[in-house]
Amino acid sequence: MSVTIAEKAEKYDLRVPRYTSYPTSPHFLETDNDKEYRQWLSNLDPKTGVSLYIHVPFCESMCNFCGCYTKIVKRYDPVSDYLEYVHKEIDLLAAALPARMTAKHVHWGGGSPTMLKADDWRSIIDKLKDLFDIDENSELAVELDPRTATEDYVQAIAEAGINRASIGVQDFHEEVQIAINRVQPFDVTKRVVEWLKKYGITSINFDLLYGLPFQTTERVIDMVDKAVSLEPKRFAVFGYAHVPWMKSHMKLIPEEALPNASERWEQMEAAAKRLEEHGFVKIGLDHYAKPDDEMTIAMNETRLHRNFQGYTIDNNPVMLPLGASSIGQTPDGYMANVQPLRDYRRMIDAGMLPIGRTRALTSEDILRRAVIEQIMCNMKVDLPALCRAHGVSEDFFAAEEERLQTLIKDEICTLDNGVLTLPEEGRPLMRLIAATFDTYLQQGQKKHSRAV
Ligand code: SF4
Repeated sequence: MSVTIAEKAEKYDLRVPRYTSYPTSPHFLETDNDKEYRQWLSNLDPKTGVSLYIHVPFCESMCNFCGCYTKIVKRYDPVSDYLEYVHKEIDLLAAALPARMTAKHVHWGGGSPTMLKADDWRSIIDKLKDLFDIDENSELAVELDPRTATEDYVQAIAEAGINRASIGVQDFHEEVQIAINRVQPFDVTKRVVEWLKKYGITSINFDLLYGLPFQTTERVIDMVDKAVSLEPKRFAVFGYAHVPWMKSHMKLIPEEALPNASERWEQMEAAAKRLEEHGFVKIGLDHYAKPDDEMTIAMNETRLHRNFQGYTIDNNPVMLPLGASSIGQTPDGYMANVQPLRDYRRMIDAGMLPIGRTRALTSEDILRRAVIEQIMCNMKVDLPALCRAHGVSEDFFAAEEERLQTLIKDEICTLDNGVLTLPEEGRPLMRLIAATFDTYLQQGQKKHSRAV
């Protein structure tokens, strides 16, 4: 007998990683020097090109749902001081590379990159252009907070070369916005979208959330309808991760107003259904795009990838971190820059790349990462074929296949001659299936967000 939605939500209310890397970032190891990272940089193939991720860890006010590393500032001095260090870090990084390289993607995240003044945008992009090749095919993307963006600002970033914007929307309902301390009326988001289009930034993504306080299924459907009316190209729809033991400002969220596991499940399904009714195709776990979008095409051709930004068509194995707490990877391993800011400044003043944690990849990590990426991107993985490609015995995952039996019984996945497949029904629980292959995960650890 098949298990109902409510039973699944109850039974699988587990906390598992989002798998934007494997091993996941809690398993990166602390380091007090940049020797290993410099070695990894010198190993890079200059022809590969790089992606750069620049973290801006400042915001004007704290949203109660926020899970990012950020600092609330009321003056601009700490931001301009920080940017001086980012300039120095770009110099240090470029000098450590084996040659001048092409930056194929540059992504500004935060925090709130909208904090940067127009002149600072220009100077940092000029700096990157001095030290990296950036051409018209390079994607320059920014996470944008509509509450603080002005028309002059949007014009300035467009002129500086930004060609993609991700807008944090969360929810449009006032009661929800007040509870999460992010009052951003629909008209404010609408105005920013109009400015972006006016100045030629037409690649626009929206981030929506479900599982927020006072959200109901009806409100989630209304949120989707309003968001679609602004015609973004892509959506990411995430479940709010309530982890007040890790982020103390989340204690300000009224817990009694949070939807329970079963309500979260319904909200997630309602958002997915409504977006599909509006003509969007579901990509992996939580992204949506139109059928002719390059991300949908990449998914259909099994060229989709997953990195720290979520789903991507970027197959570049090199993403280099810039800024405090920023995170990245090379073929040799993962790395995360230090936080807090004083440690970031201290290392740069000492002429060091500000690396705080690394994780060198073993051949087993690389195999398990490939399994997890195929589950998260393709909803299908041929385990024996992957084992053969990685030079291990075809029954390498016998123990994992055994552990999958409960999920198979609940029709969340199937296993046929080692080919693991997720039917549509199992898609929302793909993180659980991926977790079966994660040797680092301690089940029951209250470290991660809910699977749904
Ligand atoms: S603007 Fe973004 S990064 Fe800043 S507090 Fe709000 S959610 Fe967090």
